[in-house]
Amino acid sequence: MLSFKKQSRTVQQTDAQSVTESLYKQNLELAVKNKTLSLLSKLYEISILTLSPKELAKKISETIQADFNFEIVGIMLYDKVKDELTPLAFSESKRFREIENSFNVLIGTMDIPLPTKHSFFSGIINNKKIGYTEELQDIWKFSTPKGVFEKIRADGHIKSSIVYPLVIENRVIGVFILSLNRIYNQLATYEKESITSFINVISVALDKALIYKQLTITNDQLGRANERLKELDQQKSEFISLASHQLRSPLTAIKGYASLLLEGDFGQLPEKIRETVEIIYKSTQAMAVLVGDYLDVSRIEQGRMRYDYSNFDLKELVENIVDELRPTVAAAKLSIKFECNQSDNYMIHADMGKLKQVFLNLIDNSIKYTPKGGMEVSLNKDNQNKKITFRIKDTGIGIPGEVLPRLFEKFTRAPDANKVNIMGTGLGLYVAKKMIEAHGGKIWAESDGKDKGSTFVVELIGL
Ligand code: ADP
Repeated sequence: MLSFKKQSRTVQQTDAQSVTESLYKQNLELAVKNKTLSLLSKLYEISILTLSPKELAKKISETIQADFNFEIVGIMLYDKVKDELTPLAFSESKRFREIENSFNVLIGTMDIPLPTKHSFFSGIINNKKIGYTEELQDIWKFSTPKGVFEKIRADGHIKSSIVYPLVIENRVIGVFILSLNRIYNQLATYEKESITSFINVISVALDKALIYKQLTITNDQLGRANERLKELDQQKSEFISLASHQLRSPLTAIKGYASLLLEGDFGQLPEKIRETVEIIYKSTQAMAVLVGDYLDVSRIEQGRMRYDYSNFDLKELVENIVDELRPTVAAAKLSIKFECNQSDNYMIHADMGKLKQVFLNLIDNSIKYTPKGGMEVSLNKDNQNKKITFRIKDTGIGIPGEVLPRLFEKFTRAPDANKVNIMGTGLGLYVAKKMIEAHGGKIWAESDGKDKGSTFVVELIGL
């Protein structure tokens, strides 16, 4: 009886002991899981707040090393082209650093050349598999003096190392190196799980940082290329400006003499010669317009365009331009009509010469791009907001929808423009837009498309 009692107490004692042991184990497990969760949330925060890959790797390795008290935590980048692992950041325990200091080496600063040809790393990089070794030398054999390994082995702090490939979209972007004071088999399952759980977070964070770095580099390069393009554009404008200036004087002379010949200043010309001189005169005039356009563009781009403001009647100006162009319109077998409310006030404070150039260009374009029919020019005044609207509507070749948004950019010509009118630079509307905008006004084009005619509208503020 007595012996039974004794026996049952021993059984009870053993039970209590195993319960305590199991509770202790569960507690430990919970503690590591908690740690992992808190580490994951820290890593997540780091990945959001840090953009530089080096800074990110430094913070990640420091945090993991401090939280889990590992001996070495390191992140290396893999360069596929060079087949090289380069260190990004390493964090080490105090005692390991002391060993390193005594040898005056920092193993985490060494490159690992040709890892895919290196027996330990080849499986990690080529097959994207985790590598495990109990020999630190396997990892650092190329870069570390032998004595260091002997010392490390003798001190017995580092028992094993695990190297994880950092994989994004099936591509290894680096490796995560972990050296522990235990061998892998001594790690509990939950510890192993805990370690693998942050590998993915590290891969994603590092990839994001690398992409950001690449974007910053590309952005810088684009910025520099842009600066260079601006310089070249400036040089080109200066060249065009100079060349146009030089062309102007001989052109004026040719045009002047051709005009004198046509007017009979050197006697009556035989019909054949007269026709030839007329061609010379017209071509020189077209060339003068071209040179004028180039000069205007270079003045605009160099900010040298001068505006002479005065008060004048816009209605009078437009009427005069229309009258001036009537012979040209008639010669092209087209019609032109001008309409406005005569009782409205069209006084404006503007540069008369520049506005004349713009309206002349718009009407001239309508003549050029209208094979048959004609154009209606109108002026309207909104007396409430003093807005004056000039409108020219033609029955011409129209403008395709896809060209409309680019119409006022330099050198834009619609695909059909050449068929109707070979002469043209695609600069007139660009210059017109700049001039109207300098007056605080607006200019735009409307068209229902090819062969549906076009309308050009200019809005200015009157007095
Ligand atoms: P250019 O007439 O010398 O080519 P512009 O800058 O004056 O240059 O005009 C640019 C382009 O806009 C023209 O080439 C033509 O394609 C289109 N365009 C201008 N006015 C008209 C219009 N009234 N009808 C149809 N297309 C036009």
